[in-house]
Amino acid sequence: TFDVLVVGGGPAGASAAIYAARKGLATGIVADKFGGQVAETVGIENFISVAKTEGPKLVANLENHVKDYDVDVMENQKAIKLAANGLFDVELENGASLQSKTVLLATGARWREMNVPGEKEYRGKGVAYCPHCDGPLFKGKRVAVIGGGNSGIEAAIDLANIVEHVTVLEFDSKLRADEVLQRKAKSMGNITIITQAQTTQVNGDGTRVNGLTYTDRKTGESHDVVLAGIFVQIGLIPNTEWLKGVVDLTPRGEIIVDARGQTSIPGVFAAGDVTNTPYKQIIIAMGSGATASLGAFDYLIRHSEA
Ligand code: FAD
Repeated sequence: TFDVLVVGGGPAGASAAIYAARKGLATGIVADKFGGQVAETVGIENFISVAKTEGPKLVANLENHVKDYDVDVMENQKAIKLAANGLFDVELENGASLQSKTVLLATGARWREMNVPGEKEYRGKGVAYCPHCDGPLFKGKRVAVIGGGNSGIEAAIDLANIVEHVTVLEFDSKLRADEVLQRKAKSMGNITIITQAQTTQVNGDGTRVNGLTYTDRKTGESHDVVLAGIFVQIGLIPNTEWLKGVVDLTPRGEIIVDARGQTSIPGVFAAGDVTNTPYKQIIIAMGSGATASLGAFDYLIRHSEA
C-alpha cells in the first residue's frame, strides 16, 4: 500500500513524487509515458534558471531526480479506473490494481491537432502549440494562428507584439473569443482575421514551414499564405476520460482543485495541465505538483493512525 500514488510522469507528477518521497512517504508513480508533453518539446527557454534546454534532456533530468529517491516508478502503465473503498484503488490497463491512502492525479493534457498533411512533419519546425514557449522564436516573422476562440485571439495579440504579422484563421463564420479580445486584436495594425477558413495543408521546404493552404468555405477557393510559423490554438484536451463521474470536472473536462490541489474527493489530489489551474507551463505544473503533494502530506498526518 502506498501513502501517495501519483498517476502521470510529466513535470507535475515528477515534482509531486519527489516532494512526497522527501516527506518519507511510501510513494509510487504510474506513467503511461514518462516525461509527458516535455518529451515532445524541442527547445525550452522559459524554465527559469535553465536558460536553454531540450525536451528529452529535461525528461532525463526529471527521471534521474525521481530515481534519486525511494520512489516505485511504474512506466508504460496506463490507469483506467479510480475507486474508493477505504483505501483508493487505481486499476491499470494490464489488469493489475494498486492501493494507496492518497492519489495524486497528474495525467496532463494534449493539444488538439488540425490533422492536415504537413502538421506532424513540421511539428517543432514551424508548427507550434504554445505561444508563451515558442513566440520569441518567430521574432520579426509572419505567422498564423489557427482558431478564433479565446486562446487563439490571446495568442494573436501576444504574438503581434513580437512578430511582424499574424493571420488568424477561423473555421466558423465568426470568432468565438470574448468581445474585448476581438476589439483589441482588431485595433492592432498587424493582425489579419480570416473567417470561414479551413486550413487544409501545412507547407514547407523539407526542413521548415514556409506557408499554409486554406479553403475559403464561402467560395470553395483555395489560397496559399506565406509564413514562417503556425500556432495551432483549437483546444487543449485534459486526459480525464477515465475520471468522468469520479471527481468533479469543469465542462471542459479539467479536474477542479482547491488551493491545496485537493479534488472533490478528500484524499485525491491533482496537479498540472489536467487541472482547472490557469496557464499550462512546465514551471507551473512543477509548482502545482509540489503544492498537491504537500496537500496530500497534510491530509495524511490528519487522517492516518500513527
Ligand atoms: P504532461 O506533461 O502532459 O504529463 C502527463 C503524464 O501523465 C505523462 O507521463 C502521461 O504519459 C501520463 N498519463 C496520461 N494519462 C495517463 C493514464 N491514464 N495513466 C497513466 N499515466 C497517464 N511549457 C513550458 O513551460 N515551456 C515550453 O517551452 C513548452 N513547450 C511545449 C511544447 C510542446 C510541443 C507542448 C505540447 C507543450 C509545451 N509546453 C511548454 C507545455 C508543458 O509541456 C506542459 O505544461 C507540461 O508538460 C504539463 O505537465 P504535466 O505534468 O501536467 O502533464
